[in-house]
Amino acid sequence: MNNEEKIKVMKNRRKKRRRRENFIIITAVFLALFVFLGGKYALGVIYQNKKQTQNKEAKTGNSKENTETNTSEKQTENSKENAEKKTSNGLELSESGSHIKAADSYAYDTAEIRDYIMSKKEYTGKKIVFLTFDDGVTPGITDKVLNILKEKQVPATFFIVGKTLNDQAKPYLERELKEGHGIAIHSFSHDYNKLYPNRVPNVSVIKQEAEKTISRLKELLGENFNTGVWRYPGGHMSWKGLDTAGNGDEVLKSLGLEWIDWNSLSGDAEPQKVRPTNKDEMLKYVKTSLSYWKQQNVAVVLMHDSQGKNLTVETLPSIIDYFKSNGYEFGILK
Ligand SMILES: [Zn+2]
Repeated sequence: MNNEEKIKVMKNRRKKRRRRENFIIITAVFLALFVFLGGKYALGVIYQNKKQTQNKEAKTGNSKENTETNTSEKQTENSKENAEKKTSNGLELSESGSHIKAADSYAYDTAEIRDYIMSKKEYTGKKIVFLTFDDGVTPGITDKVLNILKEKQVPATFFIVGKTLNDQAKPYLERELKEGHGIAIHSFSHDYNKLYPNRVPNVSVIKQEAEKTISRLKELLGENFNTGVWRYPGGHMSWKGLDTAGNGDEVLKSLGLEWIDWNSLSGDAEPQKVRPTNKDEMLKYVKTSLSYWKQQNVAVVLMHDSQGKNLTVETLPSIIDYFKSNGYEFGILK
């Protein structure tokens, strides 16, 4: 091999080496690129998966939160419902809203009791008496009645007249509820000329007065108070047409009110010439008036806690004792 040939061989070797080196570099670059892009892709997948997981978690979390929110909303609703059964001063009311829950066991359906006393329905139950006081609230009388009822441990139903409900009436009403009595209504004005002009029932006045009295009671006792019991001033028995279509009874029923009269009375609001003048006469009046009725095992006794009814207050203990000793239990109307 001459020099020329030697140089040729060396050049060729160098060329080959350079090609090899270039190949390695290019391969390396490709590898590097591959690794870089692949890694990035792989990372991207991981990242995305992670993100999805996080989203899922977030969603699950949200739905958990939603569930929690729903539950707490429900709890709020429940406590609202419970709150709805309370008066503004915290007394727990019955479903009807006209007496406290604790009085439920001796609260009777007004329409049913009405049917019994009028012998429209047969009564086979225990002897039961409903003491009822109309025309209050009357400071000086209502509180004395409440004292006696408390002492004798018996409940009564108070038929409130709306116009008596000034701000001073509030503690009397609260006491009536608190001590287990029932609250009913007896019109707003108690004015026969407004309610029954020319002895004809004015159904729109009757309706207005019922609504006005209930809304005044709600103002004093809280929105949750309500009553389903009404007594017509003068009594249902005194006026014609109340039971005809579209008249008083039907309109009151549309307001959730049932009316009731009585089948026994103390006579404390009767004309002077027949009104009892002492305790014996009054007790006798209660017994005699009941004796005229066919149904005597259910007694609804009409009395008044209006101004001047001191004889009623004085006679009340004997009236209660009379019913007790004759085996009557005491109920309230709802
Ligand atoms: Zn009255």
